[in-house]
Amino acid sequence: MSSVFDDLVGQEHIIEILKGAVAASRTGSESQEMTHAWVFTGPPGSGRSSTAVAFAEALICPNQGCGACNECQSAATGGHSDVEVIRTEGLSIKVEEIRELLTRVAWAPSMGGWRVVVMEDADRLTESAANALLKAIEEPGTRTVWLLCAPTLHDVLPTIRSRCRHLQLRTPSIEAVTNVLVNRDHIGLGMADFAARVSQGHIGRAKYLATNESARSNRKVIMQLPLQLGSLDAAFQAAQILVDIATTEANTSSDECNEKEVEKLREAYGKGATGRGMATGASKAVKELEKEQKSRATRMVRDSIDGALLDLATFYRDVMMVQSGATESMINSDMRPEIENFASSFSSHKVVQKMSAILEVRNHLAMNAAPLVTCEALMCELARK
Ligand SMILES: [Zn+2]
Repeated sequence: MSSVFDDLVGQEHIIEILKGAVAASRTGSESQEMTHAWVFTGPPGSGRSSTAVAFAEALICPNQGCGACNECQSAATGGHSDVEVIRTEGLSIKVEEIRELLTRVAWAPSMGGWRVVVMEDADRLTESAANALLKAIEEPGTRTVWLLCAPTLHDVLPTIRSRCRHLQLRTPSIEAVTNVLVNRDHIGLGMADFAARVSQGHIGRAKYLATNESARSNRKVIMQLPLQLGSLDAAFQAAQILVDIATTEANTSSDECNEKEVEKLREAYGKGATGRGMATGASKAVKELEKEQKSRATRMVRDSIDGALLDLATFYRDVMMVQSGATESMINSDMRPEIENFASSFSSHKVVQKMSAILEVRNHLAMNAAPLVTCEALMCELARK
């Protein structure tokens, strides 16, 4: 029999725990297996939120997560009244949003079982929002199950995480990601293997690369940058190329979201609506939305630059592999000659320095450093002989 857990890749150890919890939850009371607050952590792309959503479906499904019944399907598409998935596009989740959420979930679940709230980015809770949430999690005897997702346990307030059961997801293996792309998405084996390898276990990124030619050619340009750092001029140019590519990629996807949201907002206010109250309400809502969209666009550009830097880091990682004689796990095997050449022209000490320079810059960008200037400094460092 198929199950909502089938699509989760490389997380067998977690699925076993979740199935146990679902079975125990049928008694309707809390037990060692079933508790009402969980934290899912794992590296980006490991499938934190898909795992949490699958668990939510299994909790409300009469067949413990068949994936086929009405309950499962409406939960999966966001249409189930007892399952709420909180996705944040902004930089933070504010206390007002949590208060509003708490009023919404204060009702008893409609089906009499559990009400499940999946919070995809619990690491973006502001401190006051986290404290408001904490009160709800501490409240005994409610029928609400909280599934919080975050990159690491450190990203969740200690007071909250101490009340949650913690599940750590693994980075799926390259083979596991390849298999999903081949079997689920019907992508050819060669392409699936390439995409799985260069995405290093990030399933979403792997699928995106395998199915998007412009993403692949952008990646190719990024991967050539280490070979084009012959002069200071070239280094500045390389920084500009990296930032431009990352910005264009990010803007393409945020433009798509923006249009859909504005359309939705228009529908909500009624397209031909007139009257003073309606007009002020709508224009205020549009302003709010634009503000949110702007902060999301900024974040998406930063995420995209970070992705490009991670790609760039795989070049130096491969050089290190060649230098230590471990070529079988090379990520960019299509660049083998260039990588081998690089490995023989730089000392391993220098390569390690370049690798750490990339990681350092990622940290700076995470702390809101200006992207172009930061990447220029990096490229100058990478250009150093
Ligand atoms: Zn079902």
